[in-house]
Amino acid sequence: MTAAVRPPRRFVLTAATIVLLGVLWYLAWVLTGGTGMGTMAVGYLFMPAVMTVGAMAVRSMRRAVPLVRAGRRFWLLLEACCYLFSAGFTLLAVDAFRFAPVAPSMPPAGAVLIGSGVVLAMWGVVQVPLGVTSWYERGKQWLDRTIALLGCCTVLWHFGVAPMVLAPEPWTTSALSILLLACGFAAGAITKVSYIAGGPVDRTAMRLIASTGLTAAGVALLAVLGGYDGILPGQAACMPLSGLLIALGARRQQGASAAPQRTGNVWLPYLAVLAVDVPVADVLFRAEHWGPGKWEGRLVVVSAVTVTALVAVRQYVAFRENSRLLREKQADEERLRHEATHDPLTGLANRALFKQRLETALGSGSATVLLVDLDDFKTVNDSLGHDVGDTLLVAFAGALSDAAGADGEAARLAGDEFAVLVTTPEAGECVAERVMAATTVPISTHRLLVHVSAGLASALPGTVPSQVLRDADAAMHAAKQRGKANWVRYASGMEQPAQAHARLGGDLRRALDAGEFRVVYQPIVGLADGRVLGAEALVRWAHPERGLVSPAEFIPAAERTGLIVPLGRYVLRETCRQAAQWLAEFGPDALTKIAPNVSVRQLHDPDFVADVRAALDDYGLPPERLVLELTESAVLRGQQVLRVLHELHDMGVRLALDDFGTGESSLSLLRSFPAAIVKLDKSFVDGIELDEPGTPAADARQAVARAVIQLADALGLDTVAEGIESQEQVERLLRLGYTVGQGYHLGRPGSAEDLTARLAGQRTAAAA
Ligand code: C2E
Ligand code: MG
Ligand code: MG
Repeated sequence: MTAAVRPPRRFVLTAATIVLLGVLWYLAWVLTGGTGMGTMAVGYLFMPAVMTVGAMAVRSMRRAVPLVRAGRRFWLLLEACCYLFSAGFTLLAVDAFRFAPVAPSMPPAGAVLIGSGVVLAMWGVVQVPLGVTSWYERGKQWLDRTIALLGCCTVLWHFGVAPMVLAPEPWTTSALSILLLACGFAAGAITKVSYIAGGPVDRTAMRLIASTGLTAAGVALLAVLGGYDGILPGQAACMPLSGLLIALGARRQQGASAAPQRTGNVWLPYLAVLAVDVPVADVLFRAEHWGPGKWEGRLVVVSAVTVTALVAVRQYVAFRENSRLLREKQADEERLRHEATHDPLTGLANRALFKQRLETALGSGSATVLLVDLDDFKTVNDSLGHDVGDTLLVAFAGALSDAAGADGEAARLAGDEFAVLVTTPEAGECVAERVMAATTVPISTHRLLVHVSAGLASALPGTVPSQVLRDADAAMHAAKQRGKANWVRYASGMEQPAQAHARLGGDLRRALDAGEFRVVYQPIVGLADGRVLGAEALVRWAHPERGLVSPAEFIPAAERTGLIVPLGRYVLRETCRQAAQWLAEFGPDALTKIAPNVSVRQLHDPDFVADVRAALDDYGLPPERLVLELTESAVLRGQQVLRVLHELHDMGVRLALDDFGTGESSLSLLRSFPAAIVKLDKSFVDGIELDEPGTPAADARQAVARAVIQLADALGLDTVAEGIESQEQVERLLRLGYTVGQGYHLGRPGSAEDLTARLAGQRTAAAA
C-alpha cells in the first residue's frame, strides 16, 4: 500500500488570507466611518478573488485523485459554480468602481451568472447518491428524510414564513414564493447532506460545502448589526468565507480515505419530532393562534401529527427489523452450535458431542458403545474416488441411524469410524446385529456393498468415556482380526494385541537402525529338471531375543507405521547387490531373475521409482533381471499406482502378480496392469495331486490352475506355481502345463550362501 499523500494546503491558505484581508478591510472601513482604506469599491474585489481560488482548489483536486463518476460530476458542477460566481461578482465589482462612491446594485448579467451558479450547485448536491443500495434501506432513508424535512419545514414555516404572510403589511407574492422556495431548498439540502454517507463525495467535504449556505445568514446578521445595507459587509467580510469553505472541502476530499464511512443519520427524525414540538407548544400557549380562520396554528398541529405518525411507522419498521435481526442471530447461534457438534458430511453427531453424551450417560448409569469401522474403505476412496467415498459414508450414516433406531444415537467419530451410544442398556447385541444386517445389501446410489467390523463394550457408572471407547476399539480390532464383516463383544485382554502392535512398531524402528533384518532367498525352479532359474527374496528379522521372526508377524506393522518404506528399500538394495554378485560369479544363465516383494505403501512413496533405478545402477544389475512381486490388492490402488507400475515396466523391470487367484478381480486386472509373470497361489496347489474324482474342492483347485495357465499362455505371461510341497504336485502341475515352480519341496528359503552353494553344485553338474 502506498502512504497517503498529504493534500496541498496552498489554496486553503490563499483563500484564508483573502477572507482575513476582507474582514480587516471592512473593520477599518467601519472604524474610519466609511472613508478609510480608499474607495468603497475595493470591498467588492474579495468575493471574485476568493471564488477563483475555490475553483482552482477544486480543479487541482479533481486532477489529483481518481473519482467515481458521480463524484466527478459533483465537483465539476461545483467548479463551474465557482467560476460563474467569480464572473458575476467581477461584474458587480466593475460597477462598484464605475459608480463609486454610490453602492452598486447587482447588474442583471451578474445576477444571471450567480443565479446559474446556485442552480448548478443545488443540482450537484441533489445528484450525489446517498451510498445506500438496497431498496429496503433506500425506503427507510426516504421515510427518515421525509420526517426530517417535514419537521424542518414546520419550524421554518411557523417562525419564519408565517409571520411574514400574516403580517399587517405582507410581502409581495414573488418575494414570498422565493422565500418559500429557499426554505424548502434549505430544508431539503440539510436533510440530504445529513444522510450522505459512504457515497462518492466525502461526508465532511459535503458538509463544509453545504455550510456555505450559512454565510447568507451571516450577511443578514451583519446587515442588521452594521446598520449598512447588507451588500458591502457581505461582499467584504462574510461571503468570501464560502470560497474558503470550498477550498477546505476540496482538500478534505483529496485526503479522504477509501474506507467506508459511517452510515446514515439516526437521530435526525427524533430531532425533527422535538423540533415540531416547539411550534406546537407555541401554538398551544398563545391564544391568538386559535379561533375561526386561524388556520396557521392548525397547519402546525396537522404537520406535527403527521411527523409523529411517520415516526410511529418508522418505529414499527425498526421494530420489525430488530425482530428479524434477533431471529437471524438466534438462527446463526443455533447453526454454529449445530456445526460445532455435528459432522458436516453426514449430519451425525461428531466425536465431541458423542463423548459428551457418553459422559452424561456414564454419570447416571452404565453405558454401552458400539464402535463401527468400514472394512477396506481406503480401497473405495483410492479406486473409485473421494466423491464416491463420501456418498458411501453418507449412505452408511443413514443406514446406521436406522439400525440404531430408538435404542441408540449414532455418531461419526472420524473418517470411516462410526459409533452408536446404546441408550437401551440390554439392546447392545440387537443394535450390533441390526448394523450387520444393514450391510448385507448394497447401499448408496452406487449400489456398493460395504462391510463393517464392530466392537461392543459396556461400562459401569463412573467409568471414564475414553476407557469405554478403548475397550470398544479393542473389540472392533478383534473383529477385524477374525476376518472382518462381523462384530465382537469386548472381553478383558482384548487390548493386548493392539498394545503388542504398538510395541512392535517401536521395536521395528530400533531393529532397522540396528541392522537386524536379513534377506533370505527361496529358489524358483524348473519343474522338469529341478534347475534353479531364479529366486524370491524374503525378509527376516533376526530378533536378539526371539530369533528369526517371520514377515507375517511384522510386515503388517511395518506397513501401518510406514517403516515398510525404508525396510523395503533395504531389501531391494540388498537383493540387487546379491544378484549382481551371483551374475558376476556364475554368468548370465545361472540365475535369470531375482524377485523381492513390494508393498503398496512403497508404491505410494514418491521416490520409489528413483530408488529402484538407483539400486540397479549402483550395483550394475540389468533391469530385466529384476522382478517385483506385487499383490492384487496393492495393484488395485488407483491411477497413481498404475502410473508408477507403467514407469517401472518402461524401465525394463518385470512385474509379477503374487498370490494370483485369491483376489476378487484377478482376471480383469491383467488387462490394465503390465504384468509379465503370474504366481499361482499356494492355496490352488495344496491338494492338487489328490486324485479323488468328484471331490468338489480338488476339482475346483484343478479348474483354477488350468484356467490360470490357459489365460497366462493366451496373454503371453510366464507362470510360477507357489507352495509346492511334494513330487506328486510337481507332476500334476507339469501335466497341467506349468514349467516353473517354488516351494519347500524344491528349496526352502535360505541364506545367500546356501543358494551360492546350490548354484555352484549346478555348475559342476553341468560341466560334468
Ligand atoms: P509371498 O510373497 O507369497 O512369499 C511366499 C511365502 O510362502 C514365503 O513366506 C515363503 O517362505 C512361503 N513358502 C514358500 N514355499 C512354501 C511351501 O512350500 N509351503 C509353505 N507352507 N510355505 C511356503 P514368508 O517368507 O513367511 O513370507 C510371507 C509373506 O510376507 C510373503 O508372501 C510376502 O507377501 C511377505 N514378505 C516377505 N518378505 C517381504 C518383503 O521383503 N517385503 C514385503 N513387502 N513383503 C514381504
Ligand atoms: Mg512373493
Ligand atoms: Mg505368494
